[in-house]
Amino acid sequence: MDDVIRSLATDIRTAETTVALTGAGVSTASGMPSFRGDDGIWGDEFDPDTFHIRRFETDPVGFWADRVRLRERMQPEAAGPNAAHNAFARLQACGALSAVITQNTDGLHTAAGTRRVLELHGNARRVVCQRCGERRDAEWAFEVAKGSGDPPTCSCGGIYKPAVVLFGEALDPALVRDARRRVANSDLLLVAGTSLQVDPAASLPAQRQGATLAVINLETTPLTANADYDIREDVTDVLPKIAKAACRR
Ligand code: ZN
Repeated sequence: MDDVIRSLATDIRTAETTVALTGAGVSTASGMPSFRGDDGIWGDEFDPDTFHIRRFETDPVGFWADRVRLRERMQPEAAGPNAAHNAFARLQACGALSAVITQNTDGLHTAAGTRRVLELHGNARRVVCQRCGERRDAEWAFEVAKGSGDPPTCSCGGIYKPAVVLFGEALDPALVRDARRRVANSDLLLVAGTSLQVDPAASLPAQRQGATLAVINLETTPLTANADYDIREDVTDVLPKIAKAACRR
């Protein structure tokens, strides 16, 4: 395995443009529960319809009450960046990583110090007014919803929505275009902690034009068969080693 890591680190160091694509597996070590899978949040505990855009639009009071309940289950305030997030930040700081495209909404890549993070599904640490577009800290919105039982409301009269892509909502097309362009222009694509089952992330790797493909994931993925590197290890073990080797001068 050390040979594989050394080889991948060399490829990252010599690549002109390396782009990372990350998913839930990068955040589980920070204590963020998974949404999908056997013990995922969606299922017995929370019906995904609870957080559908239609629910927000028709019953914002109930939506926000459930959102507070979800937050108390997730305890995102207790979660900080882990060794995998820090490894991406280190890779970028040493010039070996151009951007991180993530399916995660926990904001932990940014918290680790990574810049140019494309959050495909938004950022749960922010809320956005549905009328004027103003953004605020989600902590404030949770306090309001919890204390008053009313949805957090903007001074313009609009209701704040979590700045995430809810079920039934479309992703920001400009953001998806930017992600596709970055993958197409990369010569190394590092896929970490995602089984690539959810679009558009699932379709992003197909945009690459001959780029080296490295997949770091505990389980096999639809991409594994085409991967130049197939590393079935814990991302928090492997990524710091890769960053250390790739950033060595
Ligand atoms: Zn507003």
